[in-house]
Amino acid sequence: MHVSSFQPPPRTLMGPGPADVHPRVTAALARPTIGHLDPAFGAMMEELKGLLRYAFRTDNPLTMPVSAPGSAGMECCFVNLVEPGDKVIVCINGVFGSRMRENVLRAGGEAVVVEDDWGRAVDPQKLADALVAHPDAKLVACVHAETSTGACSDVKTLVELAHRHGCLAIVDAVTSLGGSPLEVDAWGIDAVYSGSQKCLSCTPGLAPVSFSERALTKITARSTPVQSWFLDLNLVLGYWQGASGSGKRAYHHTAPVNALYALHESLVMLAEEGIERAWARHRRNHLALRAGLTALGLELVVPEAERLPQLNAVAVPGGIDEAAVRARLLETYSLEIGAGLGALAGKVWRIGLMGWSSRAENILLCLGALGSVLADMGHAADTGAALHAAQAELGAGRGH
Ligand SMILES: *Cc1c(COP(=O)(O)O)cnc(C)c1O
Repeated sequence: MHVSSFQPPPRTLMGPGPADVHPRVTAALARPTIGHLDPAFGAMMEELKGLLRYAFRTDNPLTMPVSAPGSAGMECCFVNLVEPGDKVIVCINGVFGSRMRENVLRAGGEAVVVEDDWGRAVDPQKLADALVAHPDAKLVACVHAETSTGACSDVKTLVELAHRHGCLAIVDAVTSLGGSPLEVDAWGIDAVYSGSQKCLSCTPGLAPVSFSERALTKITARSTPVQSWFLDLNLVLGYWQGASGSGKRAYHHTAPVNALYALHESLVMLAEEGIERAWARHRRNHLALRAGLTALGLELVVPEAERLPQLNAVAVPGGIDEAAVRARLLETYSLEIGAGLGALAGKVWRIGLMGWSSRAENILLCLGALGSVLADMGHAADTGAALHAAQAELGAGRGH
């Protein structure tokens, strides 16, 4: 058998995730592996938890990375908080809301669905009506940044409504963490999960989570055991909450040591930049991309007030084969953008500006590449005008 090392082609990642990983993060990944019960590793973990609290804007002691991708963070929230028979109101406006419903059902809960169109934010009035119609509901679940459509929902208002009706709130912040304003404590979110590979620009495979005191009370008061052994917080806590450096951490599973170095490094970089400045950068770069897309004659699908800066759903112009465009971008420019999902399949491209992918040179590469591929395929696109419009916006934003 002939085998050789795998050398991935160099790519620019401007899809729905993973985002470009900063060289500092890949360098951290390559540092020597040490034991996951080593006191030096424990000290790094304590720092990592503090950095995650900074990113989530929370003081929740129970803030940590789950050793698996964002989907496991989702599952961790649902299996711990939903007991058999619990009624959960799930807001669905895209792919990830539907997955939340699936999680409720598999945890033995009853799901009440509040639906909104794909490409729109969750309508708070619909949630308010559902809470009145279902006074026995225990939880509300919603997605902050719906990566499948590029819509951002008003989580602050949705959580307020949930609390007014005595419900706890579970929020998906996989794509919002580090990219757009997210205030876990100020908004009173009870359980939140994210992913390492979107706006944190770390490698995929880790899921930061955070739980409020109220959520922890519900979890510890459960009358039935959590059906997932791996994700049962009562067990995981013995490891993650072990006193720092005292050797008291109990073995639960072998922590993904090097992946955690990488997450630590990406969070150090976020803290160095400052989270508010990271939010502003995502917004500024979104405006530059938008200016360029407009000059190319392309339209964003989500209404302006509900748009995410880090995920731009762009309508595919009539007569253009959307998959052929993506294939050309990848082959000729080594540039990845995303396809539409579900209701938007075949109708949109999803251009991500997440984390380290959200920078000027990526915007200019994307506009230049997209403009020339579209022009080649017969769509009247003025690439020079697009680059000029984006440059003007980038220049205007520099003083902010
Ligand atoms: C990417 C994503 C997930 C899933 O994360 P994985 O790391 O792919 O498991 C969940 N929710 C949203 C909103 C996402 O964008």
